[in-house]
Amino acid sequence: MSHTKRVDLGKSEKNDTPCFCDSGLSYQDCCQPILSGAELPVTAKALMRSRYSAYCQAMGEYLLRTQAPETRKELTAQMLKETAEQQHWMRLDVLSHQAVSPDQAMVEFKAYQLIDGYLACLHEKSLFRLDGDQWLYVSGDIQPTDGFPIKIGRNETCPCGSGAKFKRCCARTG
Ligand SMILES: [Zn+2]
Ligand SMILES: [Zn+2]
Repeated sequence: MSHTKRVDLGKSEKNDTPCFCDSGLSYQDCCQPILSGAELPVTAKALMRSRYSAYCQAMGEYLLRTQAPETRKELTAQMLKETAEQQHWMRLDVLSHQAVSPDQAMVEFKAYQLIDGYLACLHEKSLFRLDGDQWLYVSGDIQPTDGFPIKIGRNETCPCGSGAKFKRCCARTG
C-alpha cells in the first residue's frame, strides 16, 4: 500500500483532486498527463515534480524510465516500487531551478516524509539532463538539514498541508 495523504483518486470523480507534488494545481492539470505518458515534462522541474508524484504512488516503472541509464546501475522498477511503498511522502517544496547547460538543469528541493511519527526532510540538489525531448534524473547531491527529524505532536496541524490535526490525518496511515 502506498500512502496518498489527502489525494484519494479512487473516490474522486471531480477533476480538482490536488496534485501529489503540492504545485497547487489539480492532478489532472499537473503530473497526471506526464505520468500517464500523454505529455512530456517540458522542464527538469516538471520532471522532478512528476517523479515525486510517482514516488507517492510507488510507480516503479516510471521512476526507472526517467532515471538516466548511466546512474541506474542495478536499480530495477521492482526495487523502486518497493522502496516507494515503504515511504510516506508528506510535502514537496521546490526551492530553485536553473539551467546548467543547454541540456542540463539543476533543481533544488526539500521533500518531507513521515518516518515513525517524525517528520524527516530530504534536501537535495538534483541534476537532470535532456535526452532528445525527455528530461532524465541523473543524480542527487543531498544537503545537510538542521533540526530534522522533528517529532510531530498528535494535536499539531499535519505537515502534509491538509489542515487537519496530525492525529486525524497522516498519523492514521503511518
Ligand atoms: Zn504535480
Ligand atoms: Zn496529513
